[in-house]
Amino acid sequence: MKNLPSTPQALITWTWPEIEPHFNDLAARSLTKANTEEWLTDWTRLGEKLEEMYSRLSVATSINTADKQADARMNKFLDDIFPNAMACEQKLKEKLLASKLEPEGFEIPLRNMRAEADLFRESNLSLLADQQKLAIEYDKIYGAQTVKWEGKEITLTRLAMIFEQPDRVKREKAWHLKAERQMADRKAINSLWQKFMDVRTKIARNADKPSFREYTWVQKLRFDYTPEDCKSFARAIEQVVVPAATCIYQKHMQALGLDALRPWDLVDGWFSRPTPPAGIPQLKPFASIEELKSKTSAIFHHMDPALGGYFDSMVADGLTDLDNRKNKAPGAYCTSYTSIRKPFVFVNAVGTHNDVATTIHEAGHAFHVFETAKIPYIQQLAVPMEFAEVASMGMELLASPCLTKENGGFYTDAEAARARIEHLEGMILFWPFMAAVDLFQHWVYENTKAGADPEACDKKWAELWDRFIPGVDWTGLEEIKATGWHRKLHIHQVPFYYVEYGLAQLGAVQIFGNAIQNQKKAVADYRKALSLGGMVTLPELFETAGGKFGFDVATVKNAVDLMEGVVRELAKKI
Ligand SMILES: [Zn+2]
Repeated sequence: MKNLPSTPQALITWTWPEIEPHFNDLAARSLTKANTEEWLTDWTRLGEKLEEMYSRLSVATSINTADKQADARMNKFLDDIFPNAMACEQKLKEKLLASKLEPEGFEIPLRNMRAEADLFRESNLSLLADQQKLAIEYDKIYGAQTVKWEGKEITLTRLAMIFEQPDRVKREKAWHLKAERQMADRKAINSLWQKFMDVRTKIARNADKPSFREYTWVQKLRFDYTPEDCKSFARAIEQVVVPAATCIYQKHMQALGLDALRPWDLVDGWFSRPTPPAGIPQLKPFASIEELKSKTSAIFHHMDPALGGYFDSMVADGLTDLDNRKNKAPGAYCTSYTSIRKPFVFVNAVGTHNDVATTIHEAGHAFHVFETAKIPYIQQLAVPMEFAEVASMGMELLASPCLTKENGGFYTDAEAARARIEHLEGMILFWPFMAAVDLFQHWVYENTKAGADPEACDKKWAELWDRFIPGVDWTGLEEIKATGWHRKLHIHQVPFYYVEYGLAQLGAVQIFGNAIQNQKKAVADYRKALSLGGMVTLPELFETAGGKFGFDVATVKNAVDLMEGVVRELAKKI
């Protein structure tokens, strides 16, 4: 493959007329056993450049949202290059499948390509686009929601920041205001939901699948677990995590001096950790981005010199953008410059503990890019979501003992203990919520008639909520409680995409448990699993990392016991 752009500047200004001949060349070559390696390598070289082009364009638009040229380039890429490249990619996949060749290390990529080819229906293209439009509609409804608070018009996201404040009366008032505004759109969301269900039923039927769930299973390439496994996982969570979560709620209820924990006593107004009592100072881990970088580097070096080296090289090569400033997009991410096999990490740090956790989380994703640098073909780099988040969540936990000053980190022993308890408790509180979100969707697509009836959905959601989040008192708030499924965007916009977080969290805790026994081995196993990229199955990835891809009570109980034990130990340090 000759004449590919060799500099970042040349790459971001690449045009489709310059790209297309490379695809045509690959499509025209005859594919034999003898030249498979060369053909796949050339496809990879081209694919890497395109992936990196997209990454560099998104980085350019997010590090400076006022950069009009970057915006224009991104739009051109999305409108022109992306759809054309996707169509050409599809032809190359079909060519490889038709050749019946089975290149070494391609079992999983071929399995995925076959499934995608089987699922593809021309007749679904317009329906999938319709579904996309409904998703935009959903964003519009929520994006338009504002309220008047203390004389000013503010967004609900801003209003929700009040849930972190110690003034309970103010919290309750803000919570009701938010709920009222959301309930005003109840009809709109219900009618949108019926349209979603209608489109999804048609998509499944066109693809000859018994339901949209079966369609999604293949589309998400879920070959290593079944809907029944997800239900077992939810049952295990109900049995062992719900009681643990209820204990956490109770402990905080007592600390706050309350008889009942109401939704406005939680920082998200819903299910997550309770508002801290008055008088607890906020953690202030760093005063400058330099300090964030140097201490994060010290933490990684303390864990493993290679990980420390990866992080330092990112900083040295300008592959991080960590500070918050005007004209920078919100949020955090890690992306990959695939042709040079280097990551890029984006954070909006302002000096909070959350910034430390986020930087370590994204660094975990970045380590995945470093560890897979030697994998030859681009198709082998696609890591399933269930494991991609093990790299990042696992790193958060692996790094957590090094948060103290004596290990190079940011905090005194007591401060680190506080941050770590909050983190572990947050993980425990997440599992029941995740299980409710997942079970709700199984019910919806198993009972499409009731699933398309908003009233029946309300009833089902309320029932799941009472089962999975019994530790929070919703008395008198029944209508608001029942419409909770409206506010979980995944249910509407990315159906079934949620259990992945629950599974990854389980893997992360297992790695953390191994590190308590033998830190060196746990980190080595973690790195080895990362280095496999997307070349093996999920159970193999978990096993290599020293964990078990499991859905049973014993596996979940082990994880919860471990977390509770660590929390008890840490509590002694406060
Ligand atoms: Zn992540």
